[in-house]
Order: sequence, then structure tokens, then C-alpha cells
Amino acid sequence: MKTSPRSAVRRELVLLFGGPGAGKGTQAQLLSAALGVPHISSGDLLRERQAAATQALMTRGDLLPDGLVTDIVLERTAQPDAERGAVLDGFPRTVAQAQALDAWLTQHGGTIREAVFLEVPTDELVNRLRERAEVSGRADDRANATPRRLEAFAKEFPPVLEYYADRGLLRTVPGTGSIDHVHRAILQSLAHPPARAH
Ligand code: ADP
Repeated sequence: MKTSPRSAVRRELVLLFGGPGAGKGTQAQLLSAALGVPHISSGDLLRERQAAATQALMTRGDLLPDGLVTDIVLERTAQPDAERGAVLDGFPRTVAQAQALDAWLTQHGGTIREAVFLEVPTDELVNRLRERAEVSGRADDRANATPRRLEAFAKEFPPVLEYYADRGLLRTVPGTGSIDHVHRAILQSLAHPPARAH
């Protein structure tokens, strides 16, 4: 077995990907409980920040600067409770973020166990976001930032998927069906990991 640069650290990250409304947050929470590692959501971490400029961009549905998001997420991932691993939800969302994550793992120790893409058709995402807007306290849901969020996802995300597919780390799981059904499908994909790229 290969030893990591910091042999004491065996941090294994699971990345959860999906469009806005795909159910990433719900599934990441269930998965983190099942694996016994923290759930780290870039959206939640950013919403906790009070900076007006950050809030304005989020309310519009635009992506935030790579450097800012990367710093916040990696600072959280470096905490002791994530030493054995974490479920990352919403990060990385751009290739620059994916590269920064790889560099960080090389430096701090750790690997990506798998990247799970929750696949949900766009019309279903639109329906779910419309329903969520009626009950959600989230500014971006209420402000109907849906078109911009979908646009940001469609533009930035395919290269991220390709990045992990090229490394043999990507698994696609249908994000439609009951919460429990999707959860079991994710556990199943982790039990049968993809072949590693060399
Ligand atoms: P959703 O995926 O449902 O839109 P999130 O909570 O993951 O919800 O993200 C909410 C918002 O936070 C995004 O629309 C974006 O403005 C910002 N955000 C979250 N993660 C990132 C990221 N990795 N890079 C840039 N912006 C992000």
C-alpha cells in the first residue's frame, strides 16, 4: 500500500455533485451519518458568512470567486473532526477548485474516495426548485435565482465531471426516486468503487 506524505493522515473524501435542487444536501447528510464523517457544505459555509457582497452574489445565483470558496472549504476540511474524511457537498464546482483540492490533499495528506454525481433531469430540477421556493427560507430560492443557478451549473460543471471521470473517480447515480432509494444507491456505488485511473 502506498503511504501518504503524512502517513498518520488517512483522510478519505467523498464528493457529492448535482445541480441545484438535486438533493445533494439531503443525501450528503445521510451519507455523512452512515460513514461517521462530517458533512461539509460549501453553500452552508458561505451562507454563514455575513459579508454583503457574498450574500448578494448568492441571492442572484452566481458562483462566488474560486479563491474565497476554496479557502473556506479547505479550512473547514482541515479541522480535526475531518481527519478521517468528510462528505463534501457543493465543492469543487469549477476545475480551478478541483485542482486546488488536489494540491491541498497532496500537501496535507488524503485522497478522494469517489465523486458521486446525482443525476436529475433539468426539468425535474426546475420543478423541485419551484416547490422549494414556496417553503424555503433561502434567499436564492425565494428570489427565483433558478435560471442563473442552472446556467452556472451547466457552464461550469461538465468540465468538473470530466476532470474526475478522467481520473476514474466518477460514479453517476440517478437522483430521482425516494430519498431512501437514492441513499441506498449511493452506498451501493461506494461499496463497488470505480476502477482507478493510473
Ligand atoms: P444549490 O446547489 O442548491 O444552488 P448550494 O447551497 O450548494 O445550493 O449553493 C448555493 C450558492 O452558494 C450557489 O448558488 C453559489 O452562489 C454559492 N456556492 C456554493 N458552492 C460554491 C462553489 N463551490 N463555488 C462557487 N460558489 C459556490
